[in-house]
Amino acid sequence: MTTQTLDYAELFVDGGWIRPAGTERITVTNPADGTAVGSAPLAGPTDVDHAVAAARRAFDDPDGWSSWTAEARAEALDRLADCLEKRADEMAVRVSRQNGVPLSTTMGAEGQFPVLVLRYYAELIRDLPVEVEQPARLGGTTVVRHDPIGVVAAIAPWNAPQALTSFKYAPALAAGCCVVIKPSPETVLDAALFAEAVAEAGLPPGVVNVLPGGRETGAYLVEHHGIDKVAFTGSTAAGRAVAQTCGRLLRPLTLELGGKSAAVFLDDVDLTAPGLAERLFAATLVNAGQVCYLGTRILAPRSRLDEIVEFVADMARTLILGDPLDPATQMGPLVSAAQRDRVESVIAHGVAEGGRIVAGGARPTGLAHGAYLQPTVFTGLPASSPVVREEIFGPVLTVLPHEGDDDAVRLANDSEYGLGGSVWTADAERGLQVARRVRTGTFGVNRYQVDPAAPFGGVKASGLGRELGPDGLRSYQSVKAIYR
Ligand code: NAD
Repeated sequence: MTTQTLDYAELFVDGGWIRPAGTERITVTNPADGTAVGSAPLAGPTDVDHAVAAARRAFDDPDGWSSWTAEARAEALDRLADCLEKRADEMAVRVSRQNGVPLSTTMGAEGQFPVLVLRYYAELIRDLPVEVEQPARLGGTTVVRHDPIGVVAAIAPWNAPQALTSFKYAPALAAGCCVVIKPSPETVLDAALFAEAVAEAGLPPGVVNVLPGGRETGAYLVEHHGIDKVAFTGSTAAGRAVAQTCGRLLRPLTLELGGKSAAVFLDDVDLTAPGLAERLFAATLVNAGQVCYLGTRILAPRSRLDEIVEFVADMARTLILGDPLDPATQMGPLVSAAQRDRVESVIAHGVAEGGRIVAGGARPTGLAHGAYLQPTVFTGLPASSPVVREEIFGPVLTVLPHEGDDDAVRLANDSEYGLGGSVWTADAERGLQVARRVRTGTFGVNRYQVDPAAPFGGVKASGLGRELGPDGLRSYQSVKAIYR
């Protein structure tokens, strides 16, 4: 397993590696042991100007990427998918070393998922006409055209950096857009490996640019006059700031923000069903709880409360914590010591409010060198507690009782957010009835697995618009009606 330090001197702009204008650097530390993982240049305003200008040139070129046939673009997307697939294991290791998410998750989510997303969009555009002709209601015909929206600013967080960036660049490129990607400072080294794949795939200069940077770089990019659309994934607070800028500029925007989803147990749930604990883990605690869609509010029928609390607590207690690079590890450290400390203060708040910890609640023994925290399960907190209502982005679950399906739906909907959620039942039809009534963008019945071919996104404070599926492509297209 590679543990070499990765230091990049240049930024990927206009199809090549260029020296940054400034001297500031981003350094990445492994949260599992505090060792240096590597560094990259921090892109400043001059670098953003260069990248946006390169993307603009590439997009505005009348013979360029946006004018290519769907088939030619699909072939290029498939080539990029091949170049990423070759690097999938290396990509997973890089992500795990930077954000602490174990290889058991990153191999699929960061190594393979972007490949799937690219291949899905390549296939989709091969079958989807850009122009549709229809009879006009008042005589003649109308041609409805879907043009690429333009130059896209794509801003991603650190928790699933490659997967979430692919949700943006894959449909954007498929539509004929050019992109300027700004990864999170915590995960800039996988972004550099992605840029190497873009270079090998031979995409035309300027079609994809990668600018590592923090909030200031992101804010400057969002506001840049050369940008036609912003695609943002991150916290609700930052999303509001991005939305304010885009509102002022009337700039199209997709927002994938925070969540505090419900995992609803119905009274018929079979707790002995094969693989239930693994599926529940994936839907509630994977990535040490640092995933936007997780069902961290467990709602359990009062009639079976004790049994379900014990099942959830047991799932949490038996997770294997350890080195993210050990294939057996199910939960690594949090992304940083600061994040771990913040989650600990949330746990202390829950205890002060009278919550009872039935699993975890402390740092695990033997892992003091990293930002580890035991998966923690609370009961006895009121539905009004901030621990129950606010996104924690750490391995903390709360279990609340419900009085039946209607009450469970009411509690599930009693949230500022609406991104994910799940229902656990022996009767999949009954689960579907509950799924239909929860106000959320996505929902799982006895599992939760994002599907590249289906829309992903949130309602309320969880975001605006959809990524993935045909809706994801449409969000990078500008629709025009031509009457003739
Ligand atoms: P964050 O909001 O701090 O940062 C996200 C990205 O936005 C980073 O690249 C950051 O540098 C950039 N950024 C921050 N402020 C900005 C601004 N004002 N203008 C432009 N760019 C800005 O979030 P984070 O801590 O990196 O990620 C965790 C959050 O992301 C959680 O709230 C989580 O729920 C959310 N998230 C949402 C989804 C989803 O699909 N809905 C997926 C993953 C994570």
